[in-house]
Amino acid sequence: MINLKKMLEQAVKNNCAIGSFNVYNLESIQAVIEAAQVLRQPAIISFGESYTKHAPLDVIAAIVKKYCTDSEIPFVLHLDHSKNFETIIGAIRAGFTSVMYDGSSLPLNENIEKTRYVAQIAHMAGVSVEGELGYMNNEDGTTSLDLSLEKGYTKSEDARKYAEASGIDALAIAIGNAHGIYKGIPELDFERLAEISSVVDVPLVLHGSSGIPIPSLQRAITFGIRKININTEISTEAIKTARQFLHENTQENLRFESLIKSSEETMSRVIKGYLSILNCRKNY
Ligand SMILES: [Zn+2]
Repeated sequence: MINLKKMLEQAVKNNCAIGSFNVYNLESIQAVIEAAQVLRQPAIISFGESYTKHAPLDVIAAIVKKYCTDSEIPFVLHLDHSKNFETIIGAIRAGFTSVMYDGSSLPLNENIEKTRYVAQIAHMAGVSVEGELGYMNNEDGTTSLDLSLEKGYTKSEDARKYAEASGIDALAIAIGNAHGIYKGIPELDFERLAEISSVVDVPLVLHGSSGIPIPSLQRAITFGIRKININTEISTEAIKTARQFLHENTQENLRFESLIKSSEETMSRVIKGYLSILNCRKNY
């Protein structure tokens, strides 16, 4: 495993983006690893603080380390959207190679101060840090976001100041993207993305990428997006498969493990679809 900084440096060189896929259990971890190994592409295995109720950090880390330590394909184990220092320290101790501190709801100066504190500690352990600026809705998409309101979009001058002063290795921005299911077809503000990209020195991250049209994602890569987060589509497609599986297999003593295996295969297929459009195969 490598850290996020190192992985994104390669992405900058190759003008591509790395897929970051959310996991919450053994099957979702296996789906990411299988997809990345079959397509021979790097991937980020992302475990959110909000998912610690599904599995403990150290168990997730142990599974990922078992699979990825001697892998030819590079992997990053990333803590997604953490608001608590305790979780961040727990992830660093467990062996995560990257953490995200989400202070996006804080005033800019407080966000800078707290992110800098996280970066100082994480960097001593060789762990990378992603920060966030701009308003996005809840990670699980349970709160909707009125995308017509641009007041939550990341401002380029704040982004420059935040990235410089906090010492982050990657910056998540809000440019019309949101977590969860989009009501219409999302439109990214490419002008704003270009402006942010021109003043910020660290690689940029796009959250909420499920449901953004593929050509828009590819265009965002040409403007400097280097990490693309996919969560919702993997999860909702797995549910569709489970529904179909239960519809087709109505026998009384159906086995649970056969159901979760069918969903794991679907998760892997969705991940392969995204990996194949990110253009990161070469030079890894
Ligand atoms: Zn996110």
